[in-house]
Amino acid sequence: MDCDICGAPCVRGLAAWHFVCTDCRTEHATLSASLNLGDSHALDEVARASGLVKLRRRAYDAVLNTLHGLDGTTRHSVLDVGSAHGWFLDAAADRFDHVVGIEPDDRVRSAPMSDRVSVRAGYFPDALHPGETFDVIVFNDVFEHIPAARSTAHAVAQRLKPNGVVIITLPVHSGFFYRLSKRLAHLGIARPFERMWQCGFPSPHRYYFSQDGLVRLFAPSGLHLVHAIRQRAIALDGLWQRIRYAEPNRAAAACIYGAAVATLPLLRLLPEDTATYFFMQKEPASARAASPVAEQRVNDAARRRGDVEADERKQQLQSEQHR
Ligand SMILES: [Zn+2]
Repeated sequence: MDCDICGAPCVRGLAAWHFVCTDCRTEHATLSASLNLGDSHALDEVARASGLVKLRRRAYDAVLNTLHGLDGTTRHSVLDVGSAHGWFLDAAADRFDHVVGIEPDDRVRSAPMSDRVSVRAGYFPDALHPGETFDVIVFNDVFEHIPAARSTAHAVAQRLKPNGVVIITLPVHSGFFYRLSKRLAHLGIARPFERMWQCGFPSPHRYYFSQDGLVRLFAPSGLHLVHAIRQRAIALDGLWQRIRYAEPNRAAAACIYGAAVATLPLLRLLPEDTATYFFMQKEPASARAASPVAEQRVNDAARRRGDVEADERKQQLQSEQHR
């Protein structure tokens, strides 16, 4: 197969359904989704929710604070694609006049919690009204689940207002746990790798992106990276509920929890598994010239972005040397 992002040939990866681009290094999966097809793959959403809510809320506040610091953005309207339990809608309701969530999964879609918030059933962009646009579009752990990333990126650009921002939070291929799962798969222990891709889940991952791959994906649609932040996938808050969700045996869960708490300080030193990228529609040259402060911030962001990219390249090199 050829890469959805850059068109270069992909080579076979660590499973029959796993492919890696030889150029932009985006990883692809040919796993298919089965949302709303009955309870055969139903997850215990209550257990999952109670384990994640604090971690996610803290991450959403950090993302919204970062957005607040970006110059040239308007924050009247926001669209959350895959709004699920409504946690991001809740965090955004105090900061935007008009908040819309769309969610295809009947089991997790929440009702709106205020007059400013509306929630619709369906997929992006089909669930939107003709010509409906937003200042900010958000994909929280969603973008990697959507097949045909190229057409999604194009649709995002069409649904953004001028100077609009798309914020994408997703697991990255340079994260510690993902690279560990690949190392184990090389040794014949495939389950952690399959779990990272959410094999057998109602909506498995279709991609593990590189920063370079995302930049190349959005550039043809006029969207340019202005900021990137790394986020930890593990924190003490809610860790017990998350482990219990994955491990029904209480004694085994207690052992895993003890080991996780003991190694948490070490994990803080390792490469984060989640990143948030802010892409903005390119301003006209005249607008940039009128705002030297904005230009300086974009330059600063580009420098930070370079740091993250250099970090990713270094990790990738180390990973290849260890193989
Ligand atoms: Zn590629």
